[in-house]
Amino acid sequence: MSFIKEINRRRTFGIISHPDAGKTTLTEKLLLFGGAIQEAGAVKSNKIKKGATSDFMEIERQRGISVATSVLAFEYNDVKINILDTPGHKDFAEDTFRTLTAVDSVIVVIDVAKGVEEQTEKLVEVCRMRNIPMIVFINKMDREGKDAFDLLDEIEQKLGLHVVPLSFPIGMGYDFKGIYNLWEGNINLFSGDSRKNIEETIEISDLQSPELNKLVGDKAANTLREEIELVEGIYPKFNKEEYLNGQLQPVFFGSALNNFGVRELLDCFVEIAPRPRPKQSEERLVKPEEEKFSGFVFKIHANMDPNHRDRLAFIKIVSGKFKRNTPYLHVRHGKNLKFSSPNAFFAEKKEIVDVSYPGDIVGLHDTGNFKIGDTLTEGEVINYKGVPSFSPEHFRYINNADPLKSKQLYKGIDQLMDEGVAQLFTLELNGRKVIGTVGALQYEVIQYRLEHEYGAKCTYENLNVHKACWVEAKDPKSEEYKEFLRVKQRFLAKDKQNQLVFLADSPFSLQMTQQKYPNIKFHFTSEFN
Ligand code: GDP
Repeated sequence: MSFIKEINRRRTFGIISHPDAGKTTLTEKLLLFGGAIQEAGAVKSNKIKKGATSDFMEIERQRGISVATSVLAFEYNDVKINILDTPGHKDFAEDTFRTLTAVDSVIVVIDVAKGVEEQTEKLVEVCRMRNIPMIVFINKMDREGKDAFDLLDEIEQKLGLHVVPLSFPIGMGYDFKGIYNLWEGNINLFSGDSRKNIEETIEISDLQSPELNKLVGDKAANTLREEIELVEGIYPKFNKEEYLNGQLQPVFFGSALNNFGVRELLDCFVEIAPRPRPKQSEERLVKPEEEKFSGFVFKIHANMDPNHRDRLAFIKIVSGKFKRNTPYLHVRHGKNLKFSSPNAFFAEKKEIVDVSYPGDIVGLHDTGNFKIGDTLTEGEVINYKGVPSFSPEHFRYINNADPLKSKQLYKGIDQLMDEGVAQLFTLELNGRKVIGTVGALQYEVIQYRLEHEYGAKCTYENLNVHKACWVEAKDPKSEEYKEFLRVKQRFLAKDKQNQLVFLADSPFSLQMTQQKYPNIKFHFTSEFN
């Protein structure tokens, strides 16, 4: 197959949702369609159960599963689909944000009863900022939930999306009769039999046809006619360009658990979802069809096997072909690296591959060369943008609890930060180290891993910080900036990239500081150029 054909047939995407909306179930059903797995239950949920915070086994289990489900690839109708896993748990939101830099589109799963939830809002906002094409799947139609129109309204209001229903439910919950597919112009009747793999759809070219009454009954038929008229009146026509530009989001209804409405979603997805998209680097826009290879690290995972200290760096291929045993330039280090056993991912396994294409993810064994955001190329100096750090939510001092093991401790901290487990800040005043995380869970993960993987012990100490703000001075030589550095010295730190960060202790003090120093900008993410 030609190189261009290989690119055109790839779809790399993520499924985002609030925990429990049905992401795992949907993923599993998608894999069933691809024939990638044989039975339900094969996809392990990467969820962290409630109360798992102090259960280290659970954390370990979680880490194992998250390697296994990092990338799930399968083929469907000659399309190569790569699903990138996005943890729903809010303590791992930053992982998800980073993974979103490697997807070309997303599917948003919403629970029909719960509607738009907190994590959905945050994740969709990130996708919206990046104009990532989104398809919405409203799940659990076999249960009583919100009225379809109300829910579509809620999605528009809370998520700032412009929706176009491409399917519409006939009834819901106990009365759920099926869905009318506006995209294909047919009806799929709900039987509640999840074992059915292929559903029978019934062509309905004319909604006025009495055939519809026979299928779903007079009442449901009339309601559907009215609702579809409303849908056609209220919502714009689907337009692929607008979808691809992130301006319009098609919506499907279904029940993942019952494998219902999933085929419709998948068929539409493979048809409209984007092939690998060009990516902006600091230097230029890089197109997938360029001959020369380039890619970037969006995730690093420590090895589960305690006998192997190496890690797996996940690379999204942006352009060209990635070949095994070929030297590539590690741009940040300015040196060439060769990989003898790059892993490609399939639904249930990973395998060594010789060639991978744009859109694909390869896992490279790494002994500490990589950190998140690193770029690999065939020689050109390219630095991919878009793996920013966000201000952590929690901050604690980290102390060395075993003075004989300080070397191990610093090495461990360094590597864990490269993996993106948390962020390290070094105080300007006294050099003390502060760990910032998105969730409290990470502190336990770090402590546990430092001990088990590096033989180092640490303790934490509370520190009152509201937000980390990356500092940008209009004029670094100005008196104003010098004064700021002097007066606020106690609150200043450097991040791992040596960027200056202001650790504001309260919203009030941040506001006061902003007012007092109008020529200094305070950013909530590390990337602001
Ligand atoms: P995730 O946290 O988003 O990955 O959600 P899961 O896929 O683990 O689903 C959460 C719960 O919702 C599980 O108990 C599923 O069995 C259930 N569930 C998923 N899809 C449906 C559905 O279509 N209908 C019903 N009734 N339950 C569902």
